[in-house]
Amino acid sequence: MQQPRYSRPTDLAGLRALLADGGAGARLLAGGQDLVPLLHRTPWDYGSVIDLGGIDALGRIEVGDDAVTLGAMVTLAEAQRALAPHFPVIVRSLGRSGSIAIRNRATVGGSAALRDAASETFAFLHAYDAMMTLIDASGEHIRAIDEPVSPGMAIIALRIPYAHGERAGFCEILRRRSGGRALAMAFARCLPGSGPSVTVSGGPIGPTKLCAETPLAGSIGLLDAPPPVRAWMLAAATRAIEDMA
Ligand SMILES: Cc1cc2nc3c(=O)[nH]c(=O)nc-3n(C[C@H](O)[C@H](O)[C@H](O)COP(=O)(O)OP(=O)(O)OC[C@H]3O[C@@H](n4cnc5c(N)ncnc54)[C@H](O)[C@@H]3O)c2cc1C
Repeated sequence: MQQPRYSRPTDLAGLRALLADGGAGARLLAGGQDLVPLLHRTPWDYGSVIDLGGIDALGRIEVGDDAVTLGAMVTLAEAQRALAPHFPVIVRSLGRSGSIAIRNRATVGGSAALRDAASETFAFLHAYDAMMTLIDASGEHIRAIDEPVSPGMAIIALRIPYAHGERAGFCEILRRRSGGRALAMAFARCLPGSGPSVTVSGGPIGPTKLCAETPLAGSIGLLDAPPPVRAWMLAAATRAIEDMA
């Protein structure tokens, strides 16, 4: 059985060289929570695997006056600790992502690349207009979080701006009371002197910022989602606004 070629670069220049060599066929390995089970099941589907775990720069966290920048290999647990002082809603949202074991392994870069509509991390990055720094064989690029990550590109950092004096709320509707995959979730944000901005996510619909001028039910009604998902989103959005502290 053919195994994928494994590489572990130790700096960004090495990563860029491997991306140039492997092209779009190379798969990046971060915390492995999604990729490792796939590699076990069908290793022959993967030509090469580039392990990002040896690049120290990807584990950096920088807290500035108006933004927090997380290296792509920062785990969800580390991100939660770094973000909480600047985004109080984080404890109620990222604090619920999977189990502690998963939060200690899964990374912000992996979550941004996977684009799962049930991921609190991905929805948070959307709600706060995060910007991604990516590299590929041609160099470095800055992209908004809602732009897709093409094969052959690596996310190296995520910059999340924060606003002083903002109020924020979060609500998530889970498949089971005890946990399980999110059916729908919503982040609500309100800057001093302005109305709430709401981001919903769930079912087949990835994170989507609702139009501030349209009533919630009207904006959610326009989404291409089955009626139960729209009902869960409306409930989550309403409660997220109520939750704003
Ligand atoms: C049982 C379980 C429950 C979970 N529950 C939740 C939850 O409730 N909420 C939540 O937010 N998350 C949850 N997660 C985590 C989430 O589903 C993903 O598994 C995790 O975010 C992926 O991150 P990773 O670092 O493990 O990525 P990996 O598994 O290593 O990679 C995932 C994908 O992203 C690509 N990738 C990784 N890093 C980069 C990068 N820097 N640039 C470009 N592409 C990259 C990989 O090539 C791969 O295709 C759960 C995971 C599990 C296993």
